[in-house]
Amino acid sequence: MSELRDLLADVAARVTRYRESVADAPVFPDDTTGVREKLGELPEKPTPPADVIRRLADAVEPALVANTGPRYFGFVTGGALDAATAADMLATGWDQPAFNQVTSPAAAIVEDVAGEWLKEVLGLPAGASFGFVTGGQGANTVGLAAARHHLLARAGWDVERRGLQGAPPLRVVAGEERHASIDRSLRLLGLGTDAVRPVRANGQGAIDIADLERTLDGPAIVCLQAGNVNTGAFDDFAAATEIARRHDAWVHVDGAFGLWAAAAPTLRRWTAGLDGADSWAVDGHKWLNVPYDSGYAFCAHPESHRAAMAVTAAYLTGQGADGVRAPGDFVPESSRRARGFATWAALSELGREGIAEMVERCCALARRFAGKLEACEGVTVVNDVVLNQVLVAFDGDTDRVVEALQRSGECWMGATTWHGRRLMRISVSNWSTTEADVDRSVEAIKAARKSDQESRSVENRSHLA
Ligand SMILES: *Cc1c(COP(=O)(O)O)cnc(C)c1O
Repeated sequence: MSELRDLLADVAARVTRYRESVADAPVFPDDTTGVREKLGELPEKPTPPADVIRRLADAVEPALVANTGPRYFGFVTGGALDAATAADMLATGWDQPAFNQVTSPAAAIVEDVAGEWLKEVLGLPAGASFGFVTGGQGANTVGLAAARHHLLARAGWDVERRGLQGAPPLRVVAGEERHASIDRSLRLLGLGTDAVRPVRANGQGAIDIADLERTLDGPAIVCLQAGNVNTGAFDDFAAATEIARRHDAWVHVDGAFGLWAAAAPTLRRWTAGLDGADSWAVDGHKWLNVPYDSGYAFCAHPESHRAAMAVTAAYLTGQGADGVRAPGDFVPESSRRARGFATWAALSELGREGIAEMVERCCALARRFAGKLEACEGVTVVNDVVLNQVLVAFDGDTDRVVEALQRSGECWMGATTWHGRRLMRISVSNWSTTEADVDRSVEAIKAARKSDQESRSVENRSHLA
């Protein structure tokens, strides 16, 4: 009894220590070579739990990436809120299989409540169905599976029974700057990436509406994007959905992080017309700052959503006796983690105003980055900073600057290729990032640039010698 208490208290203490010091720790580990050795060989005999945990934590702590801290600006990673982290620890301790209301009424009811709250916060139709999935990738797969069902059913084809062999062709129209996860979803769904007719992007990476008009010539799945992963750009949802309607197309919106703009009054204009789509994919672990793994698929056609996903169509109705939905009927998994707890906790911790404030603050910090970097000689911000993403060009060797910056441990940004150029990408999506973190990171960028310039002038001199 007390062994368990000591074990869990030790874990809580470790998590607390880690989170309290993460802002001061190097953002990226400088040496991960010892990890495998410390993990050891598969033991023949049992090991006391406390020893197991000590060994695990001691081995991996030096290799952790401080993406939950305030100066990690790579990819779009978020950073878990305190209540959401604690709720996720409870989810683990309670160990609930969130399949339906029989396997866990608690998980089913909390997910039901949190899903309704998410629709309110994101301005999605009240009647939309939802599934709590692993992330944006999972959410895109679910949305596109619902689309596949819906369009083929309309063409008289039962894809769940007959599969795609001999099915009427299904076209996908998507922006050329769509996220790579869309292509993987299409592969998994048997539609294949050759089904995609690409639509040209404009100078900021949103779809070119005139090209959409030219490309779409019949029923298809139209994939739109709220938040280009490089630029943060939004597609013009009102114009695009109007065109899609004329062709009886299904509109899927990949809004992994950008859909959260709908929760913020000063950013909401970018999402105008978004509620007219048929399915939406959003991440929890990015901008809602829920721990990994957490994402949400929403669908304006609950029957198509369920038909595409439910474990069996014949005897389960998706509803329990008390009207609570079966979470497992809206996702591709059966037994699954009770993901609703952490989401409910994040929404409760922040409230409507807190969510808006966090999203707006991240965007203000992105603009601060852009302003400060623009003021440096030889540094250019190449995108319109409409959201939280900043693309930076250096007059030197971008990859070398980024590598030097990453080595510094001060902050972490990645490099990307966009419109044929190597660039540094900054993403601000963590609740704990402050103006001081941005300023400190700008200084680190300046230092990394200086070291690149110095090493280049040394190389030039040795060339001349
Ligand atoms: C991150 C991202 C995804 C994939 O989401 P995961 O949570 O990594 O599965 C999809 N689309 C966009 C625009 C993204 O930024």
